[in-house]
Amino acid sequence: MKVAIVGAGICGISAALTLCQRGHEVTLHEQFELFHDLGSSHGASRIVRRAYPDAFYTACMAEAYPMWHDLEVAVNQKLLHECGLLYFGDRDSENILCLADGLRSLNVPFEVLSSAQTKAKLPELRLHPNEVSIWTPQAGWVDANLANRAMFDLASANGLEIQQGMKADPYSLAKHHDVVIVTAGAWMTKFAPIPAQVTLQTFAYIDAKIDGPVWIEDSYDQPYGFPSSPEGQKIGIHRAGPVVDPGNPSRNPSEEYLSIIRETASRRFGVENPTLKHAKACLYTTTRTDDFLMGRLAPNIFFASACSGHGFKMGPWIGRLLADFAEAKDAPEKHSRFYWTDI
Ligand SMILES: Cc1cc2nc3c(=O)[nH]c(=O)nc-3n(C[C@H](O)[C@H](O)[C@H](O)COP(=O)(O)OP(=O)(O)OC[C@H]3O[C@@H](n4cnc5c(N)ncnc54)[C@H](O)[C@@H]3O)c2cc1C
Repeated sequence: MKVAIVGAGICGISAALTLCQRGHEVTLHEQFELFHDLGSSHGASRIVRRAYPDAFYTACMAEAYPMWHDLEVAVNQKLLHECGLLYFGDRDSENILCLADGLRSLNVPFEVLSSAQTKAKLPELRLHPNEVSIWTPQAGWVDANLANRAMFDLASANGLEIQQGMKADPYSLAKHHDVVIVTAGAWMTKFAPIPAQVTLQTFAYIDAKIDGPVWIEDSYDQPYGFPSSPEGQKIGIHRAGPVVDPGNPSRNPSEEYLSIIRETASRRFGVENPTLKHAKACLYTTTRTDDFLMGRLAPNIFFASACSGHGFKMGPWIGRLLADFAEAKDAPEKHSRFYWTDI
């Protein structure tokens, strides 16, 4: 089959890789230079975890998680740093209870730790006595830049063609290709009125050496963090930031969110007056329910988008799903949780 893919973020690159490995003739179109930093897929780290408060996504991760190990073997490179994850919050919080129930029902290894027991995993973390953490060893982080390049290189070795620096139009491409896949991330609303909003998400590094697992605080702002790198500890905020037009190239971090990062560093890790370094912002495309959206723009044009701030970890899995749609082995209509149509 002759396939065109619009958008070279994690979803487009992984769909391209799967289709190339299956012997198809694939061209990947990217409006900017490859591996640019104006979308959602670039950066030094993304959390990859089996555990979700929503059991549906925990079940998806049962398939998606091992794909990272398969990818490491295929590209002969270490991508997933499996340092475990602490998800912490009030012991009665609905998210904590749902997370534990889902993990139990799906047989995902986990432990519920008291605030004192949590110290053994992350000594610097300060929890209140009424807080607990859920520890999942099958979790960690991937270097997003490295993973994108590794997948792209493998796809290129399998015949992938690339067109960059020019906007592509899926409908024009459909005239000359058997299938078109649109993975345009925040720009998806240019092609279909999907119910998604694009926001600017802020993260920064604090000057602190904190090793151990990745962590997520169960709270309104949902701060999360990674083990320290030479730049310090990266802390981000999951709560949706200001709504933006992805066409506006400004990616200035939000002052409000930088102050939440400072406050989290001092409240949770005792870092007084933290200095923030390398503060940046990038795009989330989110739906009201935090679900991904997939569907068709025409019988032979498929799309996936709105990966709602949690799509990187499922990138290889979304790519495979899109490849299955292209080969008619599967169909977006069969995935009711993701399926979107305006008809
Ligand atoms: C700060 C931040 C932290 C995150 N943390 C995590 C995390 O810890 N774990 C996790 O799993 N997920 C995380 N995510 C979410 C995850 O990174 C995204 O869900 C994922 O990268 C989305 O990938 P995508 O391929 O759908 O979109 P994108 O990466 O945005 O790619 C879309 C591409 O399409 C291109 N494009 C658009 N229109 C056209 C056109 N007409 N022609 C050609 N090209 C076009 C764009 O230029 C872009 O390159 C995070 C996101 C951000 C921003």
